[in-house]
Amino acid sequence: MRAAMTDTAGSSPSHFIQTIIESDLESGKHERIHTRFPPEPNGYLHIGHAKSICLNFGMAAKYGGLCNLRFDDTNPSKEEVEYVDSIKEDIRWLGFDWEDREFYASDYFETLYEYALRLIEKGKAYVEDLSADEIRAHRGTLTEPGRESPYRERPIEENLDLFKRMRAGDFDDGARVLRAKIDMAAGNLNMRDPVLYRILRAHHHRTGDDWCIYPMYDMAHGQSDSIEGITHSLCTLEFEDHRPLYNWLVEQLEIYPPRQIEFARLNLSHTVLSKRKLLQLVNDGLVTGWDDPRMPTLSGMRRRGFTARAIRRFCEAIGVAKANSLVDIQNLEHHVREDLNKIAPRVMGVLDPLRVVIENYPEDRTEELDATNNPEDPEAGSRKVPFSREIYIDRADFMDDPPKKYVRLAPGREVRLRYGYFITCADFVKNDAGEVVEVRCTYDPETRGGSAPDGRRVKGTIHWVSAEAALQADVRLYEHLFSVTDPSDIEDGADWKSNLNPESVEVLTGCRVEPSLAAARAGVTVQFERVGYFCVDPKDSSPDRLVFNRVVSLRDSWAKIQQKQGGA
Ligand code: ATP
Ligand code: MG
Repeated sequence: MRAAMTDTAGSSPSHFIQTIIESDLESGKHERIHTRFPPEPNGYLHIGHAKSICLNFGMAAKYGGLCNLRFDDTNPSKEEVEYVDSIKEDIRWLGFDWEDREFYASDYFETLYEYALRLIEKGKAYVEDLSADEIRAHRGTLTEPGRESPYRERPIEENLDLFKRMRAGDFDDGARVLRAKIDMAAGNLNMRDPVLYRILRAHHHRTGDDWCIYPMYDMAHGQSDSIEGITHSLCTLEFEDHRPLYNWLVEQLEIYPPRQIEFARLNLSHTVLSKRKLLQLVNDGLVTGWDDPRMPTLSGMRRRGFTARAIRRFCEAIGVAKANSLVDIQNLEHHVREDLNKIAPRVMGVLDPLRVVIENYPEDRTEELDATNNPEDPEAGSRKVPFSREIYIDRADFMDDPPKKYVRLAPGREVRLRYGYFITCADFVKNDAGEVVEVRCTYDPETRGGSAPDGRRVKGTIHWVSAEAALQADVRLYEHLFSVTDPSDIEDGADWKSNLNPESVEVLTGCRVEPSLAAARAGVTVQFERVGYFCVDPKDSSPDRLVFNRVVSLRDSWAKIQQKQGGA
């Protein structure tokens, strides 16, 4: 929580939820605010959840309040312990701390049951015998009122008896439900006698087989908020139509009334943010798992090499509004790049190696050249990189027949090797297929460190690694998961998965990286100079076989878009 406070303090534009909180504190309505983050443990957290986490924990931190973690575990058949564990790990990684306030809606099952009895006793709820289909048929439409159930006027005593027997297991799954008795003609369909409890024999990850009735979301969420003394219950816009029911229930139950406030959910371009869809990608094997580096999940982004700070800054920057919108994924990548630029050590890595032989360099010699670790961070210091007669450069840095303006290596042209010498291309070798397989050069011993005593200049500087000392590595280049801006925008009947980008990952083998990376730990991110940011894959990389994920390229298209639009 402290980290999140310091890196965002003061910089954030104020939003409508802050205005509400400030006025509630000023008026004395609340002495201290209390929020909660309420994930359903039915999948891994994604970047949309990060927005909600940053908002809930962020508001509590900013105004000296508290934020609870509450698992919304009222739906036993879809929930798993694996998800609970991953959710906790992801929130901690993002930099937030719920201290000892880890709660579960299932902690309140007994209280919620008593609340239901209270509603029945007040004549505000009844046991329904109609089937789910019949209930739906009675519900009416937006333009037509619903019809009342023949069971609606059941005497209170009978309702109490039936509901207790529902709990006792006397009836089959789905045979009966408990409904609120509100108004079948209400304009808001959520108020037409919504279902509060259902019979379901399913094993629950915490309460086991203790219960065969489970409360619906509306019967659990606001009540849990109330029990925990939540002052501001922040949720996404789709719950706006549930707010009257939320308020009705706390009013009828005569319990402490939290205030529900809705905000727009985050939609991100080139990806999907729905646990159901993400689960499908996992189950169909279209990605390697919830933590596939292409996934918009926090575990995927962490594995890819995104930093928690970059994600927090992104969430801060996009703000909190009342209207839904689509945020460009390049905005997120921009924040990742900004953060990595400051902290990632620079190294040299050659993705597509081309051998260069320096003919006038002694065969048995190796030198250690000084290389700066991070020009953005003077304290990062320097390291030694070995230089020898044979080196690798990137294939893209040589052309045998270049245009005039080309400033990299070409026959007769001179370039600077980063941290090293000037070299001039004398010749090159092609294989039978016509591909260049080797470049022959000479070096100027006077240019060590990157400048010539005679003042002669070269335009191009290229990266390289010693052929002898370099380590082999696999490098995975990631592109957006979907090839269209808004994957949910599809024709009727079309499959949303048809927009998956078939080229979202390219695996390069036989790349060469400088030997200092032998000690790089899993999860460490470096910048391959001139190429991009790369993270040591925490799962697949080993000292014998280094595997890097490209976090982001160096090119910041988002900054360019902003400049063009005259924005920040
Ligand atoms: P999904 O649609 O991915 O299944 P959900 O809303 O069902 O999401 P929950 O676990 O219920 O997932 O979400 C926990 C909290 O995170 C809720 O308060 C929810 O409103 C919020 N949240 C979920 N998705 C987003 C999003 N895209 N942007 C902002 N907040 C979100
Ligand atoms: Mg939900």
